Amino acid sequence: MRALLVEDDEDLGEVIRTALTREGNTVDWLKDGQSAILALTSENFDVVILDLGLPIISGLEVLHTIRSHGNAVPVLILTAHETIEDRVRGLDMGADDYMVKPFDLDELSARIRAMRRRGTGRASPMITYKGISLDPAAHSVNFQEQMFSLPRREFALLQKLLENQGKALSREQLTQSIYSWDEDVDSNALEVHIHNLRKKFGVELIHTIRGVGYMVAKEES
Ligand code: CA
Repeated sequence: MRALLVEDDEDLGEVIRTALTREGNTVDWLKDGQSAILALTSENFDVVILDLGLPIISGLEVLHTIRSHGNAVPVLILTAHETIEDRVRGLDMGADDYMVKPFDLDELSARIRAMRRRGTGRASPMITYKGISLDPAAHSVNFQEQMFSLPRREFALLQKLLENQGKALSREQLTQSIYSWDEDVDSNALEVHIHNLRKKFGVELIHTIRGVGYMVAKEES
């Protein structure tokens, strides 16, 4: 998934970014509230990890601003131990979850997965679709009795498509969900990943929507 991390502490930010990237997420990291608001008004993220004590514009203000613009992206706030009040205010302002520093990185990852699950309206942690079973926690895909361990971006792309069944996603949306800002992207990179997924899971899995992008058809229930 694509995560926006907003944290001004260099060491902590680096640790969180490294951990989330290792788990297969695409992470963009910003260090102040103003840039966070800008990014959140112009781009799509699956989750936001938002420190409350930020320079220029505080995390609470960022949260207030994006929610008042109708942005419903799941937000997990990071707070210091002594600021119970901020935590409560954050939740009241529309944060979905919080963690108190110092925290465990595995727990942070699990909470982020849970937020995303709720955000996409899924009850089960597994995503299933026509014989495909994708496990976001184990980072594995089972298809026709076979276990696949997909490269990071292929996995993220498949998850994004399966979570949006019946919705055409633009090339830009899909590319943004698997590459962070500081990565160089080949112009045909997305096509290569789509090609690889079709090779593994069948050509009929992902439909090309001309002039738009790609889509996985809605599974009939
Ligand atoms: Ca801070």
